Amino acid sequence: MTDAPLLKVRELRITFGGLGAVRGSDVEIMRGETHCLVGESGCGKSVTALAVMGLLPRNAKCTSDELSFDGQDLRGMRERELSALRGDRIAMIFQEPMTSLNPAYTVGSQMAEVYTRHRGGARRAALERAEALLAKVRITSPGMRLGQYPHQLSGGLRQRVMIAMALMCDPELLVADEPTTALDVTVQAQILSLIAELQAELKLSVLLITHDLGIVARVGHRVSVMYAGRVVESASAESLFARPMHPYTRGLLSCIPVPGKVVRGQPLGAIPGVVPRVGPDFVGCAFRDRCQYAIADCARVVPAQDAGPDHHYACRLAPDWTASEAA
Ligand code: SF4
Repeated sequence: MTDAPLLKVRELRITFGGLGAVRGSDVEIMRGETHCLVGESGCGKSVTALAVMGLLPRNAKCTSDELSFDGQDLRGMRERELSALRGDRIAMIFQEPMTSLNPAYTVGSQMAEVYTRHRGGARRAALERAEALLAKVRITSPGMRLGQYPHQLSGGLRQRVMIAMALMCDPELLVADEPTTALDVTVQAQILSLIAELQAELKLSVLLITHDLGIVARVGHRVSVMYAGRVVESASAESLFARPMHPYTRGLLSCIPVPGKVVRGQPLGAIPGVVPRVGPDFVGCAFRDRCQYAIADCARVVPAQDAGPDHHYACRLAPDWTASEAA
């Protein structure tokens, strides 16, 4: 890894009709790392990813102090320039592959098109590459699959095709938005292992969006926890799991079974209440209606604090508060 982040997002704000969906978020992804963006649905994870890809809907207004990829400012790039990056140096896989693959074209046609559009060359060479990548993502009979249509494949196979398609141009950054949500549990595990293996082998940077901290524990190097459109905690996966600081992070962790910590037969934890809707900016901590530690001060400005090198959180509780509340 080099010291300069591959992707840098600072003070990202996204509004729809003046209502904030992302309210000042910072995310940095280093080369060769899997950075997980975690939080419940409606916290702004997917819109953040769409902003990075330049795929926000027309009614969205997006501002930031910095939005750069490999030193290139993505803000103000023309659609043609962004389009040249997408699918080439930055690729994305979505939650539901059936809605991302075109049902009218074969797998081979769709994969070959990605390659020839960005790299040119003969269709035959593109199909050879597609076949090799289908084999790489462990799809059996890859040559035969090239001639199949998406509806002829299972959900797990379609997601493998999406991953292979994303790799067609050797991207440096792979954005994966809840890539296993639509799959059953055993297939989820296979797809996650595959992404982790490819990340390590190809030295990819991965922005993995998920609501599941169990997934983060398996594949993440670094984690940003989002709540109500802001990153409320950011740390290495190791530091975050060893010493979660923000009560929201601790709430999320209490919802997953941890070997050795969860007693059989006892219910898992839950965070009361729901994520606030898209709306005006908050004054104070957006989590205070759901937080058992909230006091009147939480309605005022919430300080950004350090819990160690490279471990930041936004909460009034002092860095030593977990000593008496150890998970
Ligand atoms: Fe809870 Fe207050 Fe911390 Fe927000 S700032 S997480 S309400 S203790």
